[in-house]
Amino acid sequence: MKEQLLKLEERALEEIAAIDDPPELEKFRIKYLGKKGQLTSMMKSVGGLPSDERPKIGKLANLVKINLSKRFQEAKESLFSGKVGRDGFIDVTLPGREPVFGHLHPITLVIKEVCEIFSRMGFRVVKGPNVELDYYNFEALNIPKDHPARDMQDTFYISDNVVLRTHTSPIQVRVMESRQPPVSIIAPGKVYRRDSDVSHTPMFHQVEGLLVDKDVSFGDLKGTLTSFVRQMFGSDTRLRFRPSFFPFTEPSAEVDILCVLCGGKGCRTCSHTGWLEILGSGMVDPEVYRFVDYDADIYSGFAFGMGIERIAMLKYGIDDIQLFFKNDMRFLRQF
Ligand SMILES: [Zn+2]
Repeated sequence: MKEQLLKLEERALEEIAAIDDPPELEKFRIKYLGKKGQLTSMMKSVGGLPSDERPKIGKLANLVKINLSKRFQEAKESLFSGKVGRDGFIDVTLPGREPVFGHLHPITLVIKEVCEIFSRMGFRVVKGPNVELDYYNFEALNIPKDHPARDMQDTFYISDNVVLRTHTSPIQVRVMESRQPPVSIIAPGKVYRRDSDVSHTPMFHQVEGLLVDKDVSFGDLKGTLTSFVRQMFGSDTRLRFRPSFFPFTEPSAEVDILCVLCGGKGCRTCSHTGWLEILGSGMVDPEVYRFVDYDADIYSGFAFGMGIERIAMLKYGIDDIQLFFKNDMRFLRQF
């Protein structure tokens, strides 16, 4: 029995030294250390030995088991650690891991491009607070207390008097308040509304523009926005100005471009009209000047605003706004 145990140990040690993959190691465990393994069966038969031999052989069997278990554990660790082989060397022929290079998000790219285009036309980039007073977000923009835009459905209220800004327009008021004309600014930023579906997210980005000076006409508005649209979407882009309503501009116009997907024939994206709305604009309502102490008899100006996600979707042909916020690398890598 003693000899049998020693032979078994010798054989097992030889075998384990030659094992170099996990399935083989598992077979080894079952063969020797498993419930029906060779060592386990021998240990069971110790009970049947004469009582004078039993303690000695039992002790030996235990030592063999401890030794084999220890070797099994060592082999397992070295096989699964992956870095260092059984002989303790590092495999320098393994290919290296390439670092992942980051780049700008498509929304950031579009904001940058919009700001660059207007900067070249003489507009200055300014920013404002995301958490805004009701006064700047609504009141001073000629949005009276009973206007639907103030409805709890659309606005995130922090308190009765404080909101998450629902548009970038309050920045206009802050700038006009701080200086007399001429003023020409462009204001990008995040805005917040209680809205979420395929084309709406509770947070999105806008760019707001404002120009106030002497003798600014609707012709200046048309010229400036036409130039912007053609720089953004291509020099042969067709656009139209459509009468509209905003509380802080009068007259107001929305700007459409000929559908970039169907070329005006009509498709699902343009609701079969052939046109896509891209921005809102208008001549600043003299009522607004009252809040900032501008003389409406001397000065006139225009303002415009656009949703950045919308511009990015049209520019890159993306049909789901949620993609911008999912952080899916397969999507983001394309830009
Ligand atoms: Zn279309």
